[in-house]
Amino acid sequence: MSDCIFCKIAAGEIPSNKVYEDDKMVAFKDLEPAAPVHVLLVPKTHADNVMAAEPALVGYMLGKAAEIAEKLGIKESGFRLIINTGKDGGQTVQHLHIHLIGGKAMGWPPF
Ligand code: C5P
Repeated sequence: MSDCIFCKIAAGEIPSNKVYEDDKMVAFKDLEPAAPVHVLLVPKTHADNVMAAEPALVGYMLGKAAEIAEKLGIKESGFRLIINTGKDGGQTVQHLHIHLIGGKAMGWPPF
């Protein structure tokens, strides 16, 4: 999508602080981090949200999230993966992304 900010970041047209990249996805630091570690995993192909994405791609990204958590040093302490979806889910960018958040103890429920 030509006006999608995450498409542009994934394509390298807008700079980002990338921590991982391959042919299917990128992971970059969130501009407004909610915790000491806050990375967004974004597919290179556009999907508005998790319901519109190929399930195999979502599974691939979840596997990479675990790898990236290890790379960022939060494997042992733990972390949270979040996919905000739609209005009630609090999704503000309409391109599938997985939040990888850690580096501090978090509470539950998250609202
Ligand atoms: O799940 P949701 O859509 O609310 O999250 C969007 C996230 O994208 C926010 O955490 C926001 O800080 C981040 N963002 C970013 N860089 C942008 C635009 C949004 O890191 N250029």
